[in-house]
Order: sequence, then structure tokens, then C-alpha cells
Amino acid sequence: MKILIVEDEQKTGDYLRMGLQEAGFVVDLARDGTDGLHLALTGEYDLIVLDVMLPGLDGWQVLESVRRGGRELPVLFLTAKDDVADRVKGLELGADDYLVKPFVFAELLARVRSLLRRGRSREPDTLHAADLELDRLRRRVVRAGTRIDLTAKEFSLLELLMRRQGEVLPRSLIASQVWDMNFDSDTNVIEVAVRRLRAKVDDPFEPKLIRTVRGMGYVLEVPGT
Ligand code: CA
Repeated sequence: MKILIVEDEQKTGDYLRMGLQEAGFVVDLARDGTDGLHLALTGEYDLIVLDVMLPGLDGWQVLESVRRGGRELPVLFLTAKDDVADRVKGLELGADDYLVKPFVFAELLARVRSLLRRGRSREPDTLHAADLELDRLRRRVVRAGTRIDLTAKEFSLLELLMRRQGEVLPRSLIASQVWDMNFDSDTNVIEVAVRRLRAKVDDPFEPKLIRTVRGMGYVLEVPGT
């Protein structure tokens, strides 16, 4: 899951980024409204954590433009004032939830997780491919009744492949969604991770589900479907 943080206060931004990364999310951090809006409209995010008081465009302007751009992802805004009018404005503009600064990180994390669950209500919590099952909420993977332990990155990689089942995913897309890095970076990282994932998820089982498409990328599909 990929989260965009838009926060101009350096310490708060760094702290949120680190905390969310440690919780297993891929995180981009924008330090002003203009960059934040650009990323929100061009990147593939699952949620935005949006500060209200920002240089350049403020949080309200970012939120309005994101909604006008047709982006339906959940937005959690951060406000410095515990002010009813402020909260109402945010929710009216299409935010999904808010937190009043200062807040405890555990609370932010709980809100983020709850919004992601709601935001995904049209997507099932459990993904299936043949006898492989991935439970997104419990972060558990089972194949043919056997529990499979994956690292956080392997889990994200498998989740991406299963969400987009049947679609050939270019390495560049996998890099940006799972590793938060550019295509120019060392793509060997992806090959190694795919090999490790296969060793756990495919090698001991039949049929093989993860396929390399030469010169293009990877696809997860059930053979014959
Ligand atoms: Ca601010």
C-alpha cells in the first residue's frame, strides 16, 4: 500500500514517513502543497495524509483539486486547530477523516488502517489465485492449506501481483509500487525478490502462478484461465 504525506514541518514529515514505513507502507513525502498536488494527481496512492497549513497551495486547495481530478482515494487531514468550522470544511471538501495536532502516532496509524479498509470496500480483503490465498487484513498467506511466511516486501509484491492478476506488470511499476524507487535504480532488487517469492509460493506447489514475461515484467495468473 502506498501513502502520500503532504507536510511542510520537517520533523513531523520525517517522523510520519519513518513511522508509516516501519508499519510496512511505501511512503512519499511532499513538503509543500504544489508538490503534494502534483504527486497526488500523477502517482498511484492508496491514501493521502494531508496537512492543512502549507506553503504554496494549502491543504484545502490540494484536497479540492484532488477531488476535482476524480481521485477517490481516502484523505486524512491534519489540522492544528481543534476547530469545528475547520473540521466541517475539510469533510465537506471530501476529506474522509481528520486528526488534530499534536497527535499520537498510534492513533494516526489506526485511522490510516481503518480508512484503507473502508477505501477498499469494493476490493475483497482476501485475494485468491488457484489454491493461493492472501489475507490483506491479517497479512497472512496460505497455499494449499500451508501457511507461508513472507517478508513485508514479499507480501507487498505478492499483493500487487494478485490484485492485478492476469496483467503483465512492468518492472518500473513494481519498483514504484513496492520499493518506492525509480526504474533507473537497481532493478536486480526486483528479480531477487521475485525469485525469493517464487521459492516460497510456487516452487513447492503446482501449478506455477508467477510467470516472467521476457523484456516486459511479471504476471501472476492461473494457467489455463
Ligand atoms: Ca503545516
